[in-house]
Amino acid sequence: MFDKIKDALNKFARLGVADKKAIDELVRDIQRTLIASDVNVKLVFELSKNIKEKALDEKIPKGLTRREHVVDIVYKELVRFLGEKKPDIMLKSQRILLVGLFGSGKTTTTAKLAKYFTKKGLSCGMISCDVWRPAAFEQLNQLSKQINVAVYGDSKEKDPVKIIEKGLVALEGKEVIIVDSAGRSALDDELREELVRIDEVVKADEKLLVLSGDIGQAAGSQAKEFNELVGLTGVIITKMDSSAKGGGALSACYAAGINTKFVGMGEKIDDFETYDPVKFVSRLLGMGDLEGLLEKAKEVMSPEKAEEIMSGSFNLNTFYDQIDSMKKMGSLSKIMDMLPMGGVKIPKHLMDEQQDKMEKWKIIMDSMTKEEKKKPEVIDSSRIERIAAGAGVEPAEVKELMKNYKQVSKMMKRFKGGKAFKRGPLKDMFKSLKGNLPV
Ligand code: GDP
Ligand code: MG
Repeated sequence: MFDKIKDALNKFARLGVADKKAIDELVRDIQRTLIASDVNVKLVFELSKNIKEKALDEKIPKGLTRREHVVDIVYKELVRFLGEKKPDIMLKSQRILLVGLFGSGKTTTTAKLAKYFTKKGLSCGMISCDVWRPAAFEQLNQLSKQINVAVYGDSKEKDPVKIIEKGLVALEGKEVIIVDSAGRSALDDELREELVRIDEVVKADEKLLVLSGDIGQAAGSQAKEFNELVGLTGVIITKMDSSAKGGGALSACYAAGINTKFVGMGEKIDDFETYDPVKFVSRLLGMGDLEGLLEKAKEVMSPEKAEEIMSGSFNLNTFYDQIDSMKKMGSLSKIMDMLPMGGVKIPKHLMDEQQDKMEKWKIIMDSMTKEEKKKPEVIDSSRIERIAAGAGVEPAEVKELMKNYKQVSKMMKRFKGGKAFKRGPLKDMFKSLKGNLPV
C-alpha cells in the first residue's frame, strides 16, 4: 500500500547527502504516495511541513546521522497520524456486534474474530442475523466448520431481533458472542432502524464497524455516521492486503477519533491481526516486523520447533518444518513483507513461483534418508542423483533446493545473533522503536 515510502527512503539513503534539496524531494515522494493512498490532503501537508521543519531545524540527536534522523522523523510523523498507540482488546466474556455496509467483510470478520478469541482461550459463539442475504447464514455456517465454533441462525426467520434472542439462549454459556448483522449499500433509514433494534437486544460491549480499506478517506465520515447511530467502540478495516487506499481509511478513522482495533489482511481466516500503529509503520518503512513474524510462528509451531529453528541447529528437517509452517502462516509474499529486507520488493509472481518450488522441495526431501536430512553436508553428487530419481525430478532441482537450504541456514544464524538489526542505518531507530514494541 505504502510501498513507495520504502522506495523514497531508499532513494534518499542512496543520495549520500541529506541537504535541503534531498529532504524536499523525499517529502514530495512521500506526499505523492500518501495522496495516492487517499490520505486527506490537509493531513498530508501537515505531515510534510512537520517533516521538513524538524528535519532541517531540529538538532540531530547524538549518535544519529542526519539521514537516520530524517528517517526517524518520518517514522514518528507517520505514527502520529495512523494512530499512536495499540488499542485495548478485552480478553474476557463479552458480546460483540459487527455492523457495516454490504461487502465490507462483516461475515468473514465474524469468523476471524471468533478464531482470534478462541486462540486466546475463550469459548465463542456466532449469531447470523442477516435476513437480507438469502445465503448469509449458510456462509457463516460454512466458516464455523472451518474454525469449529458454534453458530446460530435461522434462514426462515425474517426478524433479526428474534434470531438474536433465540441465538443468545442457544449459545448460553459461551464467553464471547459475536453478532454478524446485515448491511445495505448505504446507511439508509431502513438499516438505521434495524441496527437500533439490534443494538437494543444485543447490548454489546464492543460495537465494531467493519469497513473495507478501499473506500479510503470516506471511512472517516462513515465511521462518524455509524458512531452517531449506535456508539462505536472501534472499527475493523478489511482488505488491507488488496486495497491501495488502506492508509487513507486508517488515517481518516483516527482523525475522526475512532480507533482501528483490527485489520483484515486477506480472505483466509488467519489473515487477521490486531492493529498496532507502531508495528504497522515499521513494516511500511521496511524495517520488518520480526516480532510479528515470531508471534505467528509461535502459534503454528511447537515451542520446541521454534526454539530449534531460532537456536541455529538448523538442518533439512527444520527446513521442511519451516516450509510447512510458512504455509500455515499464509502466503510467502505476506511473510516476506514482515521480514527486514531493507526495502527490497520482490514481485508477487516470483513469490508464487517460489511457493510452488517449495512444494516440490518437500517432495524431494521426502526422498532423502533420515541421515541426509539431519546432516545435509553428507549429500554429494551421487546422492543427489539418487534423490532426484526417487523424487522424479532433475538433479538440478535437488541442487537448487540445497542451495536455498544453505542460504536460509545462513540467514537463520544471522537472525539468531540479531545482526539483521544490529547493522545498517536503521539500528538506532530500531533501538528507539524497540521500547515501543510489545515484546
Ligand atoms: P459482508 O457482506 O460485509 O458480510 O462481507 P463478506 O464477509 O461476505 O466479504 C465480502 C468479500 O470480501 C468476500 O469475498 C470476502 O472473501 C472478501 N474479504 C473479506 N475480508 C477480506 C480481506 O481482509 N481481504 C480480502 N482480500 N478480501 C476480504
Ligand atoms: Mg455478510
